Amino acid sequence: MYDMIILGGGPAGLTAALYGGRAAYKVLLLEPGAFGGKIASAAWVDNYPGFHKGIEGAELGQLLAQHAERFGVEAKKLKVEKIDLAGSVKKVIASGKEYLAKTVIIATGTPGTLPRALGAEGEEEFMGRGVSYCATCDAPFFKNKDVVVIGGGDEAMREALHLSRFARKVTIVHRQKQFQAAPKLLQKAEAEPKIEFMLETAVKKFEGQQLLEKVMIEDLKTKRQQELEAQGAFISVGRLPDTEFLEGLEKDEKGYIITNENMETSIPGVFAAGDVRRKSLRQVVTAAADGAIAATMAIKYLEKL
Ligand SMILES: Cc1cc2nc3c(=O)[nH]c(=O)nc-3n(C[C@H](O)[C@H](O)[C@H](O)COP(=O)(O)OP(=O)(O)OC[C@H]3O[C@@H](n4cnc5c(N)ncnc54)[C@H](O)[C@@H]3O)c2cc1C
Repeated sequence: MYDMIILGGGPAGLTAALYGGRAAYKVLLLEPGAFGGKIASAAWVDNYPGFHKGIEGAELGQLLAQHAERFGVEAKKLKVEKIDLAGSVKKVIASGKEYLAKTVIIATGTPGTLPRALGAEGEEEFMGRGVSYCATCDAPFFKNKDVVVIGGGDEAMREALHLSRFARKVTIVHRQKQFQAAPKLLQKAEAEPKIEFMLETAVKKFEGQQLLEKVMIEDLKTKRQQELEAQGAFISVGRLPDTEFLEGLEKDEKGYIITNENMETSIPGVFAAGDVRRKSLRQVVTAAADGAIAATMAIKYLEKL
């Protein structure tokens, strides 16, 4: 029986593990991939306090993992398939094996962590070399550059508006006749002189030498193709849902877990931290802060048992 089982080894889970381990509780961390979570795939992180010169995402991920390891946290490379949180003893099932705990911290990242891929030629090749799925993360790398945003929903408009603060020109490319974004957001984007719109068009190919240089765009009505110079391409065509195993917890309409400011979920003894919960800013610094709070509140819960 563990005191704390933590689901997910990203910044939120690793910080929770560090706090739980340092307080000498018996902690198990379950993570199927590389430790560090999503930040490990970021080429460069410029906004995590303390690293004033910036740091590679992969290195930051490793440092976070080493920090948790130092406090004796047990970690297993396993994906959680099912959880049963109903009783006072929580059951976590991973690779067919059952693990028991008094508290559980869910830190599995954005529901559907993986942004939906566009499926265009060259997308994978130029990922991190011009192709991105997160303007909040990468926009500052495109100062005075030309970028495209692919998508037509709220997120695409937000990405375009954020990018317009850095880029020289932002072109929104969307397949449909009209945008699906909320009218207010759309009006804001239309009022921004740096933003241009291309409806009923689709990106077919990303091209360049080492870095992205241009995108091939097809007019879906005439089938005519044209090249658009762009050093950045931000894909915002939805996310893949992956929340089935988190059943029983109160979530919002997008699948984010609802917590209070103590990271407590609707089930006593179960906490959520980081990108997986409903919140206003999804970054490493807020994920780490959530992890620290979740573990501290889990410890308070354990003390009362
Ligand atoms: C390309 C990119 C660049 C970014 N750049 C920045 C930046 O510059 N600055 C910044 O502050 N933020 C940046 N971010 C955002 C930042 O990475 C996230 O906000 C942060 O990683 C969230 O941490 P988390 O621990 O909540 O979730 P995640 O980092 O998503 O970690 C969740 C972990 O849970 C694991 N998991 C998922 N399902 C299960 C399961 N069923 N069982 C067990 N484990 C599971 C996943 O494998 C993953 O490792 C960037 C994100 C991306 C994608």
